[in-house]
Amino acid sequence: MKPCNQCGKCCIAYSDGGLSTTTQEVEWWALFRPEIASYVHQGKIWCDPETGEQLSRCPWLQAEVGSVPLKFGCTIYHDRPEDCRHYPIDLAQMSKDECEMLEPRDLLHPNRAQQRLDDLMADSRPSSRG
Ligand code: SF4
Ligand code: SF4
Repeated sequence: MKPCNQCGKCCIAYSDGGLSTTTQEVEWWALFRPEIASYVHQGKIWCDPETGEQLSRCPWLQAEVGSVPLKFGCTIYHDRPEDCRHYPIDLAQMSKDECEMLEPRDLLHPNRAQQRLDDLMADSRPSSRG
């Protein structure tokens, strides 16, 4: 299990209507980050602030200029949705999404790999192992 290399695959895959938010998050954004709240429409993220239509790509995803291979960053990193904070949850999800944190040997030792993943994610979410 490697640290995230900011390949951006997860953000690109899930920001096309695959992310969810909570009422509390939307209320918090409305109070403290109204520019983020403007991309929420009827509880859905991320939507065009003018038309309310679902965007096909997250407006906060930004490529780092000059990075080779290309790296992506989140311009609302500290205020991003819980849903984003929790990714990746487990090896099955990473395997399906071709997450680049996953190494071939992780699949041979899934319990150890999950523990390492939970350690890497400790600042973002609770452990998936309870
Ligand atoms: S809000 Fe940030 S972490 Fe979430 S999909 Fe967009 S760029 Fe990725
Ligand atoms: S797919 Fe995996 S390696 Fe790529 S940005 Fe997302 S978490 Fe990081």
